Amino acid sequence: MSSDTSGSGYETPTGVPSKKQKRKYSQKYSKSWENDEEFKKWLKSSKKSANFAYCGVCKVDLTIQAGKTDLRKHANSKKHKENCVVVSRQPSVFDMPGSIRKQKETDAVKTGQASQAPTPLPDSVAVP
Ligand SMILES: [Zn+2]
Repeated sequence: MSSDTSGSGYETPTGVPSKKQKRKYSQKYSKSWENDEEFKKWLKSSKKSANFAYCGVCKVDLTIQAGKTDLRKHANSKKHKENCVVVSRQPSVFDMPGSIRKQKETDAVKTGQASQAPTPLPDSVAVP
């Protein structure tokens, strides 16, 4: 058997191009993260799979391949911070009772005027 590599173009066909990208350490959701001060306000388990976490404030699923690092990254994102502010100051329906009362008052005044002051008849003038 003489195997000289003399340009016959013989290559081994490899059907799997990216063998190396298999990561063993992809994180899974941990319930204990929900007790973490940093995340407890918004962190929930995702319905997608254990490879996701869910942000109850932004209402998005987060990939958690890097575990808490990914959660922290999301927590520091501008979008998340903005959403946090919105959620923490939900305006109540009874926030401005003043405007409603005012409207009622003006209504009362209007109707009061109409019933209390009937158009005075000019009976002392129209005598020919
Ligand atoms: Zn968020």
